[in-house]
Amino acid sequence: MARPPEPELTPTEAEALQRALRALERELAQSLAGSREAAAPVDLDEPIGRVSRIDAIQQQKMVEASRDGMALRARQVRAALARVAEGTYGECVSCEENVGYRRLEARPEAPFCIACQSRSERGSR
Ligand SMILES: [Zn+2]
Repeated sequence: MARPPEPELTPTEAEALQRALRALERELAQSLAGSREAAAPVDLDEPIGRVSRIDAIQQQKMVEASRDGMALRARQVRAALARVAEGTYGECVSCEENVGYRRLEARPEAPFCIACQSRSERGSR
């Protein structure tokens, strides 16, 4: 069943989303900078107990995974800001339909409309 097309963003909505994107960009840059040390590989020569070393390695892996997620999101945020500059923000990068405010409100950096997003998630599994 085809979804009704999303309306274009109003100027107020577009402005709110751009503010959200810039705030996200700053936030992600800060989180990435702040967790850099915790993501450094565990020094295996450091004389700590075996259990605390396993803890430290698990901790480091978790920080690393969350940093990967943040770095990916930061790239998507920058790509979204580039689309703002180009005047194509709010359009799906795949099918060029409007992504829609409700979706962008939740994820201002979302590059795809809901239909393309679910298609690509199905395809990658
Ligand atoms: Zn699309």
